[in-house]
Amino acid sequence: MIGCDGVNSVIANFIGLKPPKQSTMGRARGFANYKNGHGFSPEFVTINKGHVMLGRFPLDHNLVFWFVTRPINHTSRFNNFKRYIKNHIVSTRISKGFPREMLEMIQNCDVDSLTFNGTQYQAPWELPNTRLRKGIVTIAGDAMHVMAPFLGQGGSTALEDAIVLARCLATQRRAEV
Ligand SMILES: Cc1cc2nc3c(=O)[nH]c(=O)nc-3n(C[C@H](O)[C@H](O)[C@H](O)COP(=O)(O)OP(=O)(O)OC[C@H]3O[C@@H](n4cnc5c(N)ncnc54)[C@H](O)[C@@H]3O)c2cc1C
Repeated sequence: MIGCDGVNSVIANFIGLKPPKQSTMGRARGFANYKNGHGFSPEFVTINKGHVMLGRFPLDHNLVFWFVTRPINHTSRFNNFKRYIKNHIVSTRISKGFPREMLEMIQNCDVDSLTFNGTQYQAPWELPNTRLRKGIVTIAGDAMHVMAPFLGQGGSTALEDAIVLARCLATQRRAEV
């Protein structure tokens, strides 16, 4: 049995893997709809200032996806305060130094589209000394090694796990035939 049931894996819990740690970074995301077109070039843009990253990705002529990654205080419960997120990003020192059009994008975004979440990770240096199977049960993907959402590392390693598993199963199958 291979538990690929993500960050809140019941299988990882069954095996005895330590729960993931909370990262100190959180990410707000939303969509901004420009009725008359946004005028941005069709490219993914990110800007870093200190520990804050602001990104934008035009989806079509009118709609733009954006995100802000920043350090968070885990006692925050931003998800209940969508309007607060928006005003908080735009009006505080978080936004200092970012281009005006990026801040307008957040200010004018659809409040219902906003989400905010903290990020979790398994400390990679702990995994080599961790038991990753129990009997015929093992884990893969985020269930084994959830990572903070940077550089596409979570999706990439989950896919890599799938390839390694497929190779192992193919070898096993050949041995059986
Ligand atoms: C907000 C966010 C943004 C991200 N952005 C990126 C990105 O830009 N690039 C990138 O590479 N990675 C990104 N990641 C990380 C990436 O999504 C994960 O690393 C990847 O999806 C892990 O794949 P997985 O198959 O291991 O787990 P998941 O994709 O989480 O899949 C687990 C599946 O198991 C199912 N499941 C859970 N419990 C049970 C159960 N008890 N029984 C049956 N099914 C169950 C779930 O419904 C789900 O379908 C992001 C993650 C988050 C949270």
